[in-house]
Amino acid sequence: MLVVMKTQATPLEIQAVCEYIEQLGFRAHPLPGAERTAIGITGNKGEVERGNIEALSGVAEVIHVTKPYKLASRDVKEEDTIIRFPGTDATIGGRNLAVIAGPCSIESREQAFSIAEKVAASGAQFFRGGAYKPRTSPYAFQGLGIEALRIMADIRSRFGLRIITEAIDSESLGLVAEWADVVQIGARNMQNFSLLKKAGKLRKPVLIKRGLSATLEEFLMAAEYVMSEGNYEVILCERGVRTFTDHTRNTLDLSIIPAVQRLSHLPILVDPSHGTGRRDSVLPMARAGVAAGADGIIVEVHDHPEKALSDGTQSIYPEQFATMMNELEQIAPVVGRSLPRSIQVETARA
Ligand code: PEP
Ligand code: MN
Repeated sequence: MLVVMKTQATPLEIQAVCEYIEQLGFRAHPLPGAERTAIGITGNKGEVERGNIEALSGVAEVIHVTKPYKLASRDVKEEDTIIRFPGTDATIGGRNLAVIAGPCSIESREQAFSIAEKVAASGAQFFRGGAYKPRTSPYAFQGLGIEALRIMADIRSRFGLRIITEAIDSESLGLVAEWADVVQIGARNMQNFSLLKKAGKLRKPVLIKRGLSATLEEFLMAAEYVMSEGNYEVILCERGVRTFTDHTRNTLDLSIIPAVQRLSHLPILVDPSHGTGRRDSVLPMARAGVAAGADGIIVEVHDHPEKALSDGTQSIYPEQFATMMNELEQIAPVVGRSLPRSIQVETARA
C-alpha cells in the first residue's frame, strides 16, 4: 500500500501518518519526491483499512501497489533516485554519469595507490577494490581483508575518491560499512536474504550486482530486501549472466537497463569487466552501456594485469581507462547525460 500525501502536506502531517501506520503494527517508509511525499506501507499481510488513513490530515489518496517489489517500484516513487555523497559533488543516478574504477582486488598499498592515482587523473570519482573476494576456488587469493580497507581509506584521503568495496558475509559487512562509502553485494550473494536484510539496516548506499541467473523480478526483489529494512540508497548493477556463449565469460544483458528504468527509480550501472571477462571487449561494452542509458560504469583497471591476483584478463590498462573516459564524455550528451570529471584531476596531477 502507498499513501500519497497532498503537495502542500506539512512535515508534521507526514509524521502523524507514519506514526499511525506504525501503531497499526506496519512499517512506514516516507519517500520524499520532487512534488509530494509518498509513504510506503510494508509488513501488511492483506490490505490495510484505507478509509481511516484517507481521513488523516494531509493525505491525498491511498493506493494498492500490485507489484511484488514496492519501495523499489516507480509506482511508489516516480522520480529517479539520486545518491549523494556529503562533502563531495559525486552522485550516482540522475543526469551525471558515475564512473567507478580500480582493480578487482587490493593486492598491496603500492599497487592500489598507483592505480588510484591514474584513475583519479582521468577523472574517476569512485574507486573500487576488493578486500574480501568471493572466489570460485578456496585456493585462490581471498583478499587482504581489513588491511585493504585501510589502504582504500587512505586512497580516499589522498585522491578524494569515494570508495566502493564488497562485503561477502555479515562479518565483513560491518567492517566494509565502517570504512567504505558504498557497500557492494556481489552477484553470488544477490539472493543471500539475511545479508541483504543486514545491509538494509546500514545507513550507507548498497550496490547490488545482478545474480548470474537472476531474472529482472529477482533482481528488484533483492533491492526490495534492502529497502524494506529502511535503507533506500540502493544501486543496481548489471554484470553479465550465464548463457551458452563461449566468446565471453558472461553475457552482458544491456536490455535490462530500459527494463529496470521502466519499473524502478533506482540507478543502474553496467560492469563491462565481469560482463565480458575480456579486456578487448570492455571499452565497446562500456560505450554500449552508456548508450543504452546506464547511470554509470564500474570497471576493473590494473597497471600490470598480467600479474594481477584476480581478474587480470578482464582488467583494462590505465591508458585504456583514459580513452574510455574520453569516449564516454562524448557519448553522454547524445543520451542526455554528462560525465563530470572529478575536481581531484588537478590534485592527482600535481
Ligand atoms: C567484483 O566486483 O570483483 C566481483 C566479484 O563481482 P561479481 O559479484 O559481479 O562477480
Ligand atoms: Mn573481479
